Amino acid sequence: MYLKHLTIGGFKSFAKKSELEFSAPITAIVGPNGSGKSNVAESFRFVLGEQSTKGMRAKKGADLIFNGSDSTSRGNKASVSVQLDNTKRVFPMDFDEIELERTVHRDGQNEYLINGSKVRLKDVQELLSAANIGSTGHHIISQGEADRILSAAAKERREMIEDALGLKVFQYKKIESEKKLKKTTENIEKVQSLRREVAPHLKFLERQVKKIERSIALREELTNVYAEYLKREDTYIAHHSDRLKLERQEPLEKLDELKEQLIKAKKVLSESENDEKSGELVTLEEQISATRAKRQTLLRKSGQLEGQVSFLERRIRQAQEKSSSESEAPIPIGEVKKILAAIESQVDKAVKSDDPSLLQRALSDVVHTFKKFVQNASGTAVVNTDTEEKELKDIAKELQENEKDIVNISTKEEKLTTQYNELKTSIEAESLESREAEREVFRIVGEQRECENIVQRIDDELSVLERDRMEFKRELQEAVTLIGSGASQYFSFEIVDDGTLVTNAMIAVEERTKQRERRRELEKMKIRLEELGGANEDIEKEYKEVKGRDEFLVHEIADLEASVTKLEELIKELTQQLNEQFVAGIDKIGAEFNRFFALMFGGGEAKLLRVKPKIKQKKKAEDEFGEEIEIDEEVEDEEAQEGIELSVKLPNKKVTGLDMLSGGERALTSIALIFAMSQINPPLFIILDETDAALDEANSRRYGDMIEALAQKSQLILITHNRETMSRAGILYGVTMGGDGVSKLLSVKFDEAVAVAK
Ligand code: ATP
Repeated sequence: MYLKHLTIGGFKSFAKKSELEFSAPITAIVGPNGSGKSNVAESFRFVLGEQSTKGMRAKKGADLIFNGSDSTSRGNKASVSVQLDNTKRVFPMDFDEIELERTVHRDGQNEYLINGSKVRLKDVQELLSAANIGSTGHHIISQGEADRILSAAAKERREMIEDALGLKVFQYKKIESEKKLKKTTENIEKVQSLRREVAPHLKFLERQVKKIERSIALREELTNVYAEYLKREDTYIAHHSDRLKLERQEPLEKLDELKEQLIKAKKVLSESENDEKSGELVTLEEQISATRAKRQTLLRKSGQLEGQVSFLERRIRQAQEKSSSESEAPIPIGEVKKILAAIESQVDKAVKSDDPSLLQRALSDVVHTFKKFVQNASGTAVVNTDTEEKELKDIAKELQENEKDIVNISTKEEKLTTQYNELKTSIEAESLESREAEREVFRIVGEQRECENIVQRIDDELSVLERDRMEFKRELQEAVTLIGSGASQYFSFEIVDDGTLVTNAMIAVEERTKQRERRRELEKMKIRLEELGGANEDIEKEYKEVKGRDEFLVHEIADLEASVTKLEELIKELTQQLNEQFVAGIDKIGAEFNRFFALMFGGGEAKLLRVKPKIKQKKKAEDEFGEEIEIDEEVEDEEAQEGIELSVKLPNKKVTGLDMLSGGERALTSIALIFAMSQINPPLFIILDETDAALDEANSRRYGDMIEALAQKSQLILITHNRETMSRAGILYGVTMGGDGVSKLLSVKFDEAVAVAK
């Protein structure tokens, strides 16, 4: 026996604490109408967790509390506790005795206790369902409720039978699982909606972070491109600027040299450009020609004078010859040659001498010598013609003077000519020098120009390099701003091209266009970098947070979905188990039902039928004219759960439906079914509230027999007015109600009970 003790306090009409011991398999509760017997059955329902106030004939929780009477004040709460034996551990708790207690307060609040500990209703239900005490209360048949199993719908009946079969525990699990499934699905939806809510922001952050990542990658790339660019640029500029500066030296030095040369050459040129000498030359030339003219005149005069001399000498000689023609004697040639030699010597001396007086004396000597020669030769003195001789003498003197003048003028002419020639030579020499100087100037100027061109070209190149250097400095500053101070370490950067280390020499000879191309690339990268923006720690942090949350949600969804799958599997499994056990149980209950039915009615037949609920479906058909029409057709809902229908056949009667049974027959049929249900999976206890009310004496006996049979498996608490039933009870409680409206309980003997029941 599992049911040990019941304590009712403040519940309905039991204003005061009332206790019932259930030490016998059958306990009967008897008493007059309205004394509060059914309240006892309801107190069982209450303590076992009944949630329907209607099932306890109340509208609300407070209706279950003693409402007071004229003499007794109303209570604030109703409490019922039941003690159950658990030595066989039918309840999954490690206690020999389990006490369940439920209290309801006026505000409708309920409290549940298991062995004094506050628990949830669910815990109570689970504990009870483990011992096949279900909530449909199939083991508590209230007054007039026996019929309920007959009038219930197929689906509801199925529930009662499931409960009786002890399938409630599966049902609980299934319902729990379904609830969980629903909740989990809702949670998935909630989490998904949370994800959906956060998704645009996450996407935005993702894009931002991707941009940041791209910017970091680009910055890294830029660092390398910059390093290569800067190194190349610096190396190139340094190399070529050194080279050009060196190259510039030579033409510069040459220019200095040329400058000096030019000064000299110009000096030479300016010196050679003197006109004074030309003037002098002209003067000399004029003087020479004047002298020459004068000499010509003198020569002509000499000629004239000589002619006059010759004439006079001839005249004198003719005169002399006349006088001495016979004395002409031959003069030996040797004597003539001697005289000639003497005259020549005298003349030579005079000519060579600068002294004109010597020339004069020489001339008179010549005349004298010659006279002497003639005298000697003739042997006679020369005949003088005085006038002529005087004239001759004067002319000879004049000739002598003239000759002297000729000598002088010739000397002067000679001098002038020498001067002229010297000056001319000098002028000619000077013009040659001037031309050379001019050429030299031209050459120098040409070379200067060449050198200047070279310097200019070098300077042009240097100024390009200088411009590049300025640009390089600006670029370096920008690089430091963009990629940090590391940019200035470019020189240690090793440039590798096609696996080859690029040397400074290679850099120096590289085509400039390539470096310009690099520069363009750099600019593009900078623009891209600017577009991407820089690192943003806040964004990254926020992204990490939001992403972390999202990942958590994804994880959560995955967990929930896994739970859904598990729950669905569990539900499927439970449904299958339920179905299997239900089908098997129905067969067994059906057999018992048939047995009890035949026992009750002394024959006949009863069956339990599993039926699918019907649904209406459209069907195509033909009307009387052969036209196609749609008609409604009732078909079984294959998807739906099977319900239970009853089929009974009374002995010797043609009964086709339950509706056709009499009240007693209905009572017997329902009792047969209730008993049949109790046989398969006997509940720990069964409470039957006046189930026997409609039975006649003969049936009461049969009922009594069946009760005793039933009591073998389940403890029975029977509320009854039936004497036969009372007679089967081991313990009898009488319930009375006095004028105070308060129910009282007392243990009574059978006779007292019969008396009390009346
Ligand atoms: P019967 O034999 O006619 O079925 P019974 O013995 O089963 O009667 P119950 O139906 O258990 O009697 O008791 C009904 C009595 O309980 C009524 O008198 C009713 O006034 C009383 N009662 C019900 N609820 C309360 C309550 N909240 N407070 C006080 N009395 C109550």
